[in-house]
Amino acid sequence: MNIVEIYKKFPSHNDCLDHIESVRWAGKPICPYCGSPRCTPMPQEKRYHCNSCFTSFSVTVRTIFHNSKLELQKWFLATTLILNAKKGMSARQLARELKVNKNTAWFMGMRIRKAMLEREERNLLQGIVEMDETFIGGKPRKGDGGNEKHKRGRGTKKTSVIEMIERGGKVRAKVAKRVNGKTISSPVRRNVDTQNATLVTDEYKGYLGISRLVPHKTVNHQVWYVDGDVHTNSIESFWALLKRGIVGQYHKVSLRHLPKYIDEFCYRHNHRKHDDLFGLTISRAVGV
Ligand SMILES: [Zn+2]
Repeated sequence: MNIVEIYKKFPSHNDCLDHIESVRWAGKPICPYCGSPRCTPMPQEKRYHCNSCFTSFSVTVRTIFHNSKLELQKWFLATTLILNAKKGMSARQLARELKVNKNTAWFMGMRIRKAMLEREERNLLQGIVEMDETFIGGKPRKGDGGNEKHKRGRGTKKTSVIEMIERGGKVRAKVAKRVNGKTISSPVRRNVDTQNATLVTDEYKGYLGISRLVPHKTVNHQVWYVDGDVHTNSIESFWALLKRGIVGQYHKVSLRHLPKYIDEFCYRHNHRKHDDLFGLTISRAVGV
């Protein structure tokens, strides 16, 4: 859905509240503090009173919308804008679109990204799985040593991210402390169905031992042709998007927040065929 559709579907704060209530409770309110179903509506305030623990609450308690003074409509619009922003959306841009200040926009973006966190999935990647690592981060700091600024990629002090993509399917990406022969096998074991997959990577020597675990083919980037199925085009286009998004939109991403931005990009990719991505995201936002 785009923002016009969201705007029409949820014209007021109360419409948004009704929607969250139906997603979260399906007509049977439950006290978020004690879990009791013995609740009396207080219709004027759109709140409920719990007859077991005697507190009052609204449906947003313990959701990403909790304790926000903003109209829920802005939250719904922000969610839609972020879901539709293939290259990511900076706080500054979100602030402009919603007419809120930049700190508020940043806070909203981080809360919405919580709903986009990729859960550990049990389904392993199958078929042709492209794997690569990339390096994200600003210029090396002073004292990082010697010729750091002339180095690129592996061996630099930038943050490495390992990523795997099932061709035509899902993507997994995680920050990794170190990328080498020892550390590469454990994400493969966790994410790839090694009995039913072929791993395609570049010729980095860290992958040398991986064929003991899973059939492995390498791409020679020096050669200018695509050898049938042996290419890493899917992963490279995902990377390009992620890097451009992170460098372009979130230039000051600290290490602490990087995993959330990566998950945001994975989430958009992995659910790109979902027929109600907004609905899915709202249900995750309210913890259903
Ligand atoms: Zn209660």
